[in-house]
This record gives sequence, C-alpha cells and structure tokens, in this order.
Amino acid sequence: MTSAAAADPDQIRAELADWVHQHWDPAMALRDWRTLLLASGWAVPSWPQRWHGRDLPAWAEELVGSELLRLGAVGVPVGSGTWLAAPTILAHGSDELRDRLLAPILTGEQTWCQLFSEPGAGSDLAGLSTSAVLDGDSWVVNGQKVWNTSAHHADMGMLLARTDWSVPKHHGITYFALPMRQRGVEVRQLRQMNFHASFNEVFLTDARIPVGNVIGEVGQGWKAALTTLAYERRFSALRRPAYSPAPGRALDEARAEADDHFATYSWYPQRAGRPDLVIEHARAAGVSDDPVIRQAIARLITLQRVAIWTAERARVARARGARPGAEGSIGKLAASNVARESAKVHSMIAGAAALLTGPDSPFGGVVAEVLMSVPGQSIAGGTDEIQKNILAEKVLGLPPEIRVDRDVPFSEIKHRG
Ligand SMILES: Cc1cc2nc3c(=O)[nH]c(=O)nc-3n(C[C@H](O)[C@H](O)[C@H](O)COP(=O)(O)OP(=O)(O)OC[C@H]3O[C@@H](n4cnc5c(N)ncnc54)[C@H](O)[C@@H]3O)c2cc1C
Repeated sequence: MTSAAAADPDQIRAELADWVHQHWDPAMALRDWRTLLLASGWAVPSWPQRWHGRDLPAWAEELVGSELLRLGAVGVPVGSGTWLAAPTILAHGSDELRDRLLAPILTGEQTWCQLFSEPGAGSDLAGLSTSAVLDGDSWVVNGQKVWNTSAHHADMGMLLARTDWSVPKHHGITYFALPMRQRGVEVRQLRQMNFHASFNEVFLTDARIPVGNVIGEVGQGWKAALTTLAYERRFSALRRPAYSPAPGRALDEARAEADDHFATYSWYPQRAGRPDLVIEHARAAGVSDDPVIRQAIARLITLQRVAIWTAERARVARARGARPGAEGSIGKLAASNVARESAKVHSMIAGAAALLTGPDSPFGGVVAEVLMSVPGQSIAGGTDEIQKNILAEKVLGLPPEIRVDRDVPFSEIKHRG
C-alpha cells in the first residue's frame, strides 16, 4: 500500500485501478460494494487506516473520488453525513463512536441532518437554548430547532444542546448524535418563498439520546461545532457525482440515492444565481448587443471567474493538508456576490418577465426561481455579515465585536429570563 510520504498521484491511480478491476462489479448491492470500499481504505483515502482510510495526503481524497467515477465505479455517498458529520466525528468522537457511526455514514446506510439553528439562535448560535439533561443512561432533550435541511428524511441529527446553564454560553454546549426516528422528535417541513420545502422545524419533546452518543466532551460541544461549520463553508458548492450511465444494481442504487438527495437541493443552482445562463438568456431576449447589458454581463463573469480562482487556490491549499480556514469565509462571500449580481443581470435582461413562472416565462420559470432563491445564498452556513466579522477579526486583526454576554453565566443573560 502507498505510504503518505511516498504518495505519488500516478502510483495511487495505478493501485486504485488495479483494485477496482479486481473488485468492482456493478451487479453488487451498493451497500456491499461500499463495505468493500471501506475495507480497502479507498473510500476515504486521507483518513487513518484505523478508520477506513489509507493515511494518504489530503489531495488523494479528490483524486481517488474522481478516479472511481472515471473507472465507472461508485464512491462514498453525497450529503451532510459524509461532508459534515463524518469529519466531525473523526476529529472529536471517541473511538467507540468512530467505530459505531462512521461506517453507516460512508456506506449510505444512515443519513444525517444538522440540528444547530433555533428560532432565537442563528448567527448567535452559541445562544441556543435547547436543553439536554442526563437521566440514567440517556440524555433527555427538549427544545426547538429550525431551518434544518433534509431533517424530514434523516436517520441521525448533529444536535447542539445546552447541558450547563451556569457557565458562559460557549462552555455549556454539548454536541450529540441524535437518533431522529423516535417519538420525541417531530419534524415539520417549511414551505419556502420559492415553493420548495427543503428545510424543517424540528420539535424535541423528551427525546432520548444514549449517553455514548456525545461527540467530544460534555460541555465542549462548541469546539466540535466549529469543525462542522468550517466544513460547511467548504462544502457550500454541491455537485452531483457523474455516475456512469451503464446498467447494474450498484449504479442504479447510487443514481437513485443521488436523485433522492438532490431532489431536496434542486433549487440550489438557482440559489447560486445561474450565471451560466446569462449569455444564453441575453441572446434569446435579443439584447446581447445592448452596451449596458454587455457591461453588466462582463462584470458578472469577471466576479465569477475571480471567485472560481479563489476557490481553486483554497482547494489546492486544502489538498496540501491545510485545515479549512479564512478562505471558506471569502469563498462564501464571493458566492453571495456572484449570486446577487447574477440575479440583477437576469432581471435587466428579462425585465418584468423575470417574475413569471410557467411555460411562457423566460427559461421555464428559472429566472423567477433565481430571484426567489438568491437571498438564501447569503444566509445558509453563516450570513454575509458573519463572514465579514470573521474576516475582520481573524484575518485583518481588527477589534472584535463588543460581546457583553460572552463571559457571564448563560442563565444570567437577561433576555433568556
Ligand atoms: C438554505 C438554508 C439552509 C439551512 N440549513 C440549515 C441546517 O441544515 N441546519 C441548521 O441548523 N441551520 C440551517 N440554516 C440556518 C442558517 O444557519 C441560519 O439561517 C443562519 O445562521 C442565520 O441565522 P438566522 O436565520 O437566525 O438569522 P439572524 O442570526 O437572526 O440574523 C438576522 C440578520 O442579522 C444579521 N446579524 C446577526 N448577527 C450579527 C452580527 N453579530 N453582526 C452583524 N450582523 C449580524 C445577520 O447577518 C442577518 O442579516 C439554513 C439556512 C438556509 C437559508
């Protein structure tokens, strides 16, 4: 097996191809294939061997993922289990938790959602007030979460709850793996202004969590939450894997899994503003020679290219092993700017027709969906203002925000009663 020190892309490609040729059989059940993939270490090659990996450098992750697809095979599932929960459990979970929770995520047996935000705690996430109280061998949870993407079909939730009210707000939070399919968990879908329903309210009434499901230490959940949030900024761009169209049970199941997952996210390209459509849109509307529109398109494409290059620089830094950092905030802000600018350009081109949906509308209603979806881009995963605060404080070294509630016991914060 290639060692991290001696890792060479060509050698990795060759070893992987050799292994895939020996083991890949599209007629297998997808779970069986992924179980093999985990046992071989190719599922998450940059992870430790002890937990399904090969100890390869971070850059091997992307290389192996795309090589698997190129060879016609299937990699680990898409979704917040793989992208958020798994790296958080790997970084902060006990060995017992890693043994128990990582494999079902990576085979696709269990899907996850993120239960962080509350009606009174979004940007000020550390102000959350869902409570968890230890009762024998389980924690009993009460409270309400909101904006929880995919909670309506998740098996497990990354839950932040307050376990100690006598300490300052960042110190009394615990990070739990919550089993979603139980009586104390009620999930209600929310209808959005773009008519989709991808996120939910989650009501927790005496929901139970086994004591062993604490990720990290009791009261130290903030540290683990920061890991999840850093990965969330990094994965704000969702891409559907390009599975082979060939027949076979494993491929059929992988395509169905992706269909199911991306149904929730079908409006995300519109949320990103669809800059890919503006030139086609201008030509179709007969305004591509309008000098004002041409300028606006040029400005948009420039912004988009700069954002792509920034993201690419960040990707290369990560591939070299850098942990997610400031570039996540810069990338998120850039994505918001591109989305807003793109919505503006689409509106300039379409005029009042931008508001139409149905068969006579520009691009079958896509432009109207862009206008209704773009605001979500600058909110999800931390708002623009919060990204600016992070950059101002952590990168530019500017004076921090005044935070009067930071060092007092949470129970003494006035608005909490
Ligand atoms: C598409 C989408 C998917 C989401 N998915 C999930 C999910 O799966 N799980 C989950 O837990 N949450 C999810 N969220 C929730 C998201 O994390 C929160 O909406 C976000 O953190 C903002 O919190 P809030 O909505 O409570 O707004 P608030 O925090 O109330 O903010 C309101 C306004 O005040 C500004 N503001 C607040 N504090 C400051 C400050 N200190 N300085 C300057 N300005 C400030 C904000 O920028 C914003 O403009 C999702 C949201 C969206 C839009």
